[in-house]
This record gives sequence, structure tokens and C-alpha cells, in this order.
Amino acid sequence: MRAHRGKTALLLLLGLLFTAGCSGGTPAGSPASRDATTAATSPAAKPSPADDRAAAFRKWGIPLLPPPPAPPAVKPIRTGDGKIPAVSDIPTTQKIVFLTFDDGAEKDPKFVAMMRDLKIPFTMFLTDDIIKNDYGFFRPLQALGNSIQNHTLSHPDLHTKSLAQQKHEICTQQTKLTQEYGTAPGLFRPPYGNYNDATRAAVKSCGGLRAMILWRESMQIKKVQFQRPDKKFHPGDIILAHFRGPSQLKGETMTVMTANLLRQIASQGFTLARLEDYV
Ligand SMILES: [Zn+2]
Repeated sequence: MRAHRGKTALLLLLGLLFTAGCSGGTPAGSPASRDATTAATSPAAKPSPADDRAAAFRKWGIPLLPPPPAPPAVKPIRTGDGKIPAVSDIPTTQKIVFLTFDDGAEKDPKFVAMMRDLKIPFTMFLTDDIIKNDYGFFRPLQALGNSIQNHTLSHPDLHTKSLAQQKHEICTQQTKLTQEYGTAPGLFRPPYGNYNDATRAAVKSCGGLRAMILWRESMQIKKVQFQRPDKKFHPGDIILAHFRGPSQLKGETMTVMTANLLRQIASQGFTLARLEDYV
């Protein structure tokens, strides 16, 4: 993060220098002003990835979120020891949070366009009954590097179900998602955040699933609902949002809801990182 801040400061400084050059802050004809003019008019000068990123955030009316920091060399949540951890937040001191979108009801092409522009990391937890009318919608989001994870076949409240029923809900969805999207999910989210010992046993029995993912905050239409009384993001928090559109959001669109969320993340000085790099 420190190296990253240094880079951001350098970019800001370069931006200021460049602006000064264009607005006449440097005497005309000075080497600095000639360089700035050449850089601005040369056909070979292409916008840098940082420029593109800043422009994309401006386009959607969202303050610029820094790119994710480099992933840790060792994942802070250890898995694979035969236990299935339930994870609501990631131990870290960096000002990062993790964005997750659940269920898959709303399939808004404008949201795909927004994510193509912003290139922010997020994780999708999908339910077969809700996505089976259009599996294809999620493929471009996956192609951007965002993973598709397991959220059961039919979204039941699992702790009212037998072990056999839970295995059916989780393991059948594991097979379906693997066939449909070409990659086996590694993470599972229980619907409503409800689970019991049988859920852990079922998750373990499917093969491939290494952790249950819960959350610390959930996104409403305009505001984030915080679990903690200080109503602030904490480093490593996992945020729950949903694929929801006007019929679930009192007429609001998924892109507006997402922009509202990203503004709140930016306003508290956080950025997003990729959950799978930490679990
Ligand atoms: Zn759900």
C-alpha cells in the first residue's frame, strides 16, 4: 500500500505539472512548456492505463479508487486443512474491502458496461434457479477476471434442511457451475448467511470448496448497512450486494446502486481487492 501511495502521489504530481504547463504556469518557450506541448499533440502519445482508469471513474461519476494492492504472498485465510472456515472479513491492515454480488436476478447489460470500464474486482455468488434463464449474462463479467462461486441450487434456508438436502443444494450447484462456466467454484455462501454443522459437512463433501463466505456490510439502495455501531468500513471487510434492478430497488438501477456503494467506499478512503487472493 505504501509503494502504491507513492505511485499515486507521483501521478498526482505529474498531473499537476502537466496542468500547469497547459495553463501557462510555465513561461512560454521554456523547455518544460515545449515538452508538455509535444506530449499533448504527438500522435504517438497514448493515454496511460492510469489515465484510462481515471476517465472511466469520471464517466460513471465515481471518485477514483486506487487499483488493488499486490496480493499477499501467503493468503491470510488458511484453508485446506480439512476444516471449512466461515469468513466475514479478512485479517489485513490495508484499507481494502471486498465486493460480492449475490443471486443473479438482475441481468442489466449496463452493469456489464460499467464493470468493463471500471475494472474493479468482485466475486459473484450465483443460484441456479435465478440464473438459469440466462447463464450467458455472467460470462463477460467472468471474462473480466471475476469469479463465479456457489450459492446453492434454489436458495433455501439451509439450517432447516437435512444433510442430504444440503448436499443436493450445494454439490449439484457445484457441478452445474463447473459445467456452465468451466471452473469449479472454491467458495460457498449460504443463503441468508444461515448455516449449521451439516452445512459445513455438505460443503466439505462436494469437493473443491474451501471456505464459506459471509459479510460485514450489506448494500441497500442508496446506503450501506453496517453491522458495527461505528458505521464504518474496517480493513478486510466483505460487502454483500445483489444483482438487483428496478423491481427490487424501488425503481433504481443496478448501476446507480453500485455507484452509490463505490462512492461510500471511496469517501472512507478504501479501495477494493480480489477476495480469492486472500482466501
Ligand atoms: Zn442470496
